[in-house]
Amino acid sequence: FAPWNDPEEKPLIQFRNVSKRFGDFTAIDDLTQDIFEKEFFALLGPSGCGKTTMMRMLAGFDAPTEGQILIAGQDMARVPPNKRAVNMMFQSYALFPHLTVWDNIAFGLKREGKDSETINARVDEMLRLTRLAKFAKRKPHQISGGQRQRVALARSLAKAPKLLLLDEPLGALDKKLRQDTQFELMDIQEKTGTTFVIVTHDQEEAMTVASRVAVMDEGRIVQVATPDQIYEAPNSVYVADFIGDVNIISGRAKTQGDKVAVLWAEAQPDILGTTSKSFSDGQEIHFAIRPEKVGISPDEPADAQNKIQGKVLDIAYLGNISTYHVELPTGHIIKAQTANTRRIARRQITWEDPVWLSWTDTAGVLLER
Ligand code: ATP
Repeated sequence: FAPWNDPEEKPLIQFRNVSKRFGDFTAIDDLTQDIFEKEFFALLGPSGCGKTTMMRMLAGFDAPTEGQILIAGQDMARVPPNKRAVNMMFQSYALFPHLTVWDNIAFGLKREGKDSETINARVDEMLRLTRLAKFAKRKPHQISGGQRQRVALARSLAKAPKLLLLDEPLGALDKKLRQDTQFELMDIQEKTGTTFVIVTHDQEEAMTVASRVAVMDEGRIVQVATPDQIYEAPNSVYVADFIGDVNIISGRAKTQGDKVAVLWAEAQPDILGTTSKSFSDGQEIHFAIRPEKVGISPDEPADAQNKIQGKVLDIAYLGNISTYHVELPTGHIIKAQTANTRRIARRQITWEDPVWLSWTDTAGVLLER
């Protein structure tokens, strides 16, 4: 990956206090964010959070109501879409059905009036990049969905934009093909060095392809970080819950030495965690822990930092992993996940079994909200 967090790295895109209102509805709310050169940046969030509005403003189809958008240091306020070094690939990447793959890719270059030598060289380069050389003479209906998607990508990159916007680019592909195509997309992004901004509501996709992920909620970016930071250190219950599977236990904070405890239920052990944040006693606090960080065993673990008893309600066997739903005496359901890596003669855990759940003090995060 490009060293996006390198202070030397120049931001390609700067949102400065950008708001976008439609009538009295605020779609983007005072948003400030940099996106660096060569980054693969994902905007992730539920439907209606403002992802497409951000893209449309970048592309120049919409202007912000307030604030500034700079691309390569230049204020975009008066720069129309076709004058921006930006290209956009839409979810419905309509190719021209009557044109060959080659002509589809060449289309934008021809319209710009480039000479044929330049066009030939550029189209050939794009065909190589997207591994489409042998399909050059075919029409869109004579190639597969995945190949059509690559043609659309080749066409979008032909004019060598500084920035490519991808709006749910893989939405039309089935899951398996989607996953393969994600790797191709990463590969192509790296080879071309183009800044990619992708919009998706698919968290797995964002986590796979992006060097940084911005999680959005109601017109604001609530966290922006690398995929592993987002997953390991979400800054709110909203982000923890949006990315992957998580257990949330809510209660009141109580500082105990260098740890903070979550007081959450009668006659249950307090949940302890370490955190760099300070909480005042009695304050609302949430403990978020991923299922794979929760150990599960039939016997009481001798030296666990945190342990709690429950009863198995459900087991989902997913081949590589199994997920257990464990009910606590309080009625809380905790999910624990184990990797099925070995064919071990482990004592089987089945439905209704009493089990122990355990985790270390650093396995989860303590959150304010
Ligand atoms: P999705 O994943 O469903 O595409 P999104 O995150 O891309 O959602 P946007 O399309 O950016 O969401 O819309 C953000 C909010 O702004 C939505 O509540 C939408 O209804 C509203 N909105 C978007 N465009 C307009 C418009 N032209 N007029 C009024 N409201 C709009």
